[in-house]
Amino acid sequence: MSQPDRYAVLGNPIAHSKSPLIHRLFAEQTQQVMRYEALCLPLDGFVSGIQALHQQGYRGMNVTVPFKFEAFAACESVSERAQLAGAVNTLIRTDSGWQGENTDGAGLVADLTRLVGSLAGKRLLMLGAGGAASGVVKPLLDAKVDQLTIANRTAQKAIDLAQRAAQGRVNGCGFDVVPNQPYDIIINATAASLAGDLPPLKAGWFADAGCLAYDMMYGKEPTVFMQAAQELGAEQQADGLGMLVEQAAEAFYLWRGIRPQTEPVRLVLAE
Ligand code: NDP
Repeated sequence: MSQPDRYAVLGNPIAHSKSPLIHRLFAEQTQQVMRYEALCLPLDGFVSGIQALHQQGYRGMNVTVPFKFEAFAACESVSERAQLAGAVNTLIRTDSGWQGENTDGAGLVADLTRLVGSLAGKRLLMLGAGGAASGVVKPLLDAKVDQLTIANRTAQKAIDLAQRAAQGRVNGCGFDVVPNQPYDIIINATAASLAGDLPPLKAGWFADAGCLAYDMMYGKEPTVFMQAAQELGAEQQADGLGMLVEQAAEAFYLWRGIRPQTEPVRLVLAE
């Protein structure tokens, strides 16, 4: 019998990762003979780690905190969406090394579309300008959003990110100068929720009917951002579990050429 193709998610820490479960469910569903494990690499051992895994014949990798930027620098080549993100979350084996991809944006767009339908013409506000935010700008623009405002605690990072996108529909600023006007979708891409903290929110952002407040973070309970958005009047709130499953599906597709169904897997994880 042939040996299963090997894949892994690389991070530090990594024990909490849901990726092995997600990819096992995708593999069962699509009948792929593959093995996917979680590997904790030493903080100063990412590059030597991926070289060793290449020698061992691994076919692909997901990359998570804190290695997404190092992965970008270590790849032989990167896709356009990874280039704009400056970060890589998926490695695809080539004969001589690794090709870098970023599937976070495709994951977010797929999950937002599940929640509100087409993103065309929508007004979006994204709070945060770190690795995750950087990865989603191009896919959001490709989904034809009408307007994307990026606001960040460190305003300059949001301004730089908007400039890298080089499109009139995107602007970057600090939290304090975001107008108190309605948006269709407000995305929390800050890491504030991890510490139970919140970026400063304005009630006017959530005022329109159908407004969706989306936190990239996920957990057993609604996040502090989701709770605050509900109190401020947001009609719909969601966490980032769907994005997690969708970005994994995109990576699976890049590796295996088969697109798994995400809804059954999202439901298993949500339980
Ligand atoms: P980074 O460390 O790259 O960026 C952190 C961002 O959060 C920066 O914009 C930073 O602002 C901001 N920030 C941190 N603390 C605060 C605070 N107290 N108040 C306001 N802003 C704050 O993190 P990532 O971009 O990798 O991750 C961001 C979030 O997205 C995390 O919650 C992560 O779990 C989630 N995520 C979810 C994914 C999914 O599939 N669902 C995928 C990837 C990430 P500044 O620049 O001023 O420091």
